[in-house]
Amino acid sequence: MLPLPTFSVLSPRAVSDAAQMLTDHPQARLIAGGTDLLPSMKYGLFTPPTLIRLGGVSALQEISVTEAGGLRIGAGVTLRAVGRDVRVLSLYPALAAATRTIATSTIQAMGTLGGNLMLDTRCAWYNQSTFWRGALGGCLKCHSAPEGAICHVAPKGKGCYAAHSADTAPGLLLYDAEVELVSTRGARRVAVAALYGDDGRDWIRRAPDELLTAVILPPPPAGRVVHRKLRARGSIDYPLLLTAAAFDPDRGPRVVVSSVGPRPVELGGVAEAWEAGGVEAVAEAAYKQVSPLSTHVWPAPWRKKMVRVEVRRALEAAISGV
Ligand SMILES: Cc1cc2nc3c(=O)[nH]c(=O)nc-3n(C[C@H](O)[C@H](O)[C@H](O)COP(=O)(O)OP(=O)(O)OC[C@H]3O[C@@H](n4cnc5c(N)ncnc54)[C@H](O)[C@@H]3O)c2cc1C
Ligand code: SF4
Repeated sequence: MLPLPTFSVLSPRAVSDAAQMLTDHPQARLIAGGTDLLPSMKYGLFTPPTLIRLGGVSALQEISVTEAGGLRIGAGVTLRAVGRDVRVLSLYPALAAATRTIATSTIQAMGTLGGNLMLDTRCAWYNQSTFWRGALGGCLKCHSAPEGAICHVAPKGKGCYAAHSADTAPGLLLYDAEVELVSTRGARRVAVAALYGDDGRDWIRRAPDELLTAVILPPPPAGRVVHRKLRARGSIDYPLLLTAAAFDPDRGPRVVVSSVGPRPVELGGVAEAWEAGGVEAVAEAAYKQVSPLSTHVWPAPWRKKMVRVEVRRALEAAISGV
């Protein structure tokens, strides 16, 4: 069994207190459900001296209807609560469906929506114990010395391709959701589509002193959004490929693919492909655009073939729901 390193815990009761603590303790990490953070600390991926526990901040645990007719979901709402909320189920079914595919029922009861959107990028060469990583000399994403020399996925490259694996992100992107980030400097909103970067080491466009307080969803789109997850087993496993598709009868389809690189990507040329050849042409366009790398144990060529299959399935489901 891997032991946890030693750390101290701060327990704010208000968002402003949490923001102040983040400013005062730059080495600290936020902890919500801890379902990703604590295993990562056991693996020695990082060893923060202080954790700021968000579980006591009740303002983060509310779901409310916005003036615009959408929903505001607090970052601290558990995945289980999101997946069971009648407003989420009726207005944003792809979000509810995504939460129910994450890990296991017990992890869904602890893990939060905010923690999911802030989930670290993952790689088969990185999410390993210190001993395992040390045997290979670590990689670019590993922070602690003597790690940090090369990328085992693309040894000639200078970047990190660790995969974005948060199940809720692709659907939220198609719902045009935003997140609220708060620091002692104030609050700002960022579209989920603009929240993530292109390098697996620097994948989140959030300042170190900001905490995510809420996800804000506009009124739902006219068409249906569908979430699909390819994984080895029907539960527990992280995604091998995530696909979200939306179909609006007036505007046509939109497709997002994730878990194939550091951020979810909305595919280009989808409207043109749809006009030219319908579902099959969109699936083919996706196949040409998406090239998974060996960030997962399952073979990248097979995951690439499955892009075509999963995009077709997601889009057919979105169209049949209209
Ligand atoms: C066996 C197993 C399987 C899993 N499978 C999946 C899966 O299939 N798909 C998936 O998406 N996830 C999976 N997870 C990961 C995890 O359970 C979920 O992503 C969960 O939603 C994380 O939420 P949390 O509240 O537990 O986050 P935590 O572990 O508490 O935090 C995760 C990260 O987010 C940061 N953070 C948390 N809250 C905030 C906030 N409000 N503002 C800023 N930063 C914040 C933390 O500092 C940390 O870096 C799995 C975990 C396990 C153990
Ligand atoms: S993609 Fe390369 S640098 Fe990034 S975690 Fe994997 S092996 Fe490390």
